[in-house]
Amino acid sequence: MKLLILLSVLAASAIASQKRYDGYQLFQVTPKDAASYDALARLSDSEIYDFWTDLRTIGHSTDIMVPPAYVSLFVDLMYAYSMEYRVKMVDVQTVLDMARDEQVAVPRVGSPRYSVTWDNYYDFNAITAFINEIAAAHPDKVTVSSIGKTFENRDMPLVKISTGGTGKKAIVVDGGIHAREWISPAFVTWLINELVENYAAHPQYVDNVDWYIMPVINPDGYQFTHDTNGDRLWRKNRKPNAGIGGIPCIGTDMNRNFGFHWNEGGSSANGCSDTFHGGAAFSEIESQNVRDAILAVAGQAEMYLTFHSYGQYWLTPWGYTSTLPSDYTQLYTLAVSAVNKLTAVYGTQYTIGSSTNVLYVASGGSDDWAKGGAGIPFSYTVEMRDEGTFGFQLPARQILPNNEEVWEGVKVMAESLF
Ligand SMILES: [Zn+2]
Repeated sequence: MKLLILLSVLAASAIASQKRYDGYQLFQVTPKDAASYDALARLSDSEIYDFWTDLRTIGHSTDIMVPPAYVSLFVDLMYAYSMEYRVKMVDVQTVLDMARDEQVAVPRVGSPRYSVTWDNYYDFNAITAFINEIAAAHPDKVTVSSIGKTFENRDMPLVKISTGGTGKKAIVVDGGIHAREWISPAFVTWLINELVENYAAHPQYVDNVDWYIMPVINPDGYQFTHDTNGDRLWRKNRKPNAGIGGIPCIGTDMNRNFGFHWNEGGSSANGCSDTFHGGAAFSEIESQNVRDAILAVAGQAEMYLTFHSYGQYWLTPWGYTSTLPSDYTQLYTLAVSAVNKLTAVYGTQYTIGSSTNVLYVASGGSDDWAKGGAGIPFSYTVEMRDEGTFGFQLPARQILPNNEEVWEGVKVMAESLF
């Protein structure tokens, strides 16, 4: 009994030291005209307002988290610009607590083969252990290597899945570039497992293409969202920067740091902003490592898939301009086929289109660079579940349904290369 009490006290104090979001509110806001749109665009450059979803075009909603001290000012702004808004979460901390309680409560059934399962979310160490375990169990198909170290000296894993041979096309997959989007590594690790453990059920997906999969390309940030002294809603990497006004801040948005039309809109020069684009293109060691790993296989790679959440979008380049790529029809048609299969599983609706036209301009993205910089023709950003009911705190019970439906889309993508 004493031990139980001690353990629960320890657990409570551990939980208490994560960054808290008491009184933070999540607003869903819809700009109706250019003036209100511009006002939101200016807010997105500030470190005060946290845009959980990227700003969209006029008439479409965006989710913005507002700290308690700014709620009344924010509401005044909404009235001043006649913007439609509603409060989606009256207290973000309550939602974080509920998600954590559910995660703790999930019972582990039987004795799983690997260090991760897909009825729960796992930290970076568990994911690394899983990768090494599945490679050891399937040395004929799986090779693990490190593409380099992070700022905090973690190895960044690359999983190659191949049945050998030469002349095959390849698909590059990554996840976890934005730390708080936990469903992303939860899908990408599941994809590795599905391709390898269930190989016999669908050998064509491994026999016909090689896969280069990086499940977590922002390991420092991802681990920080799990750490007991961390921040569940952290997005960027963890390298300090000059900040603003002489006050240093931490973290660069790696998905604004890639070097194809870098810093051409939709990113911030404010080191405290969640969309800080870094001091230069590829200023961050993690984006450099990803760049070099992709360039090493760029001659073979025909497809790049990068997994995010949330919003349910299957997006093509470009993010830096509203001009469409010359092969947009091909990119779009394939995405439509993929999403049709995805939706057929559980009815989940995805929006398809180019990043800039579905959302808003955002330069320095990995998908733009994969296509424009590395020359990989089929490049997509997939924003998975949900549409903001839970947002980044997608309940663990939705991991498997999410993964099953997205897998149907990925299969269509892969088949296009056979
Ligand atoms: Zn993201």
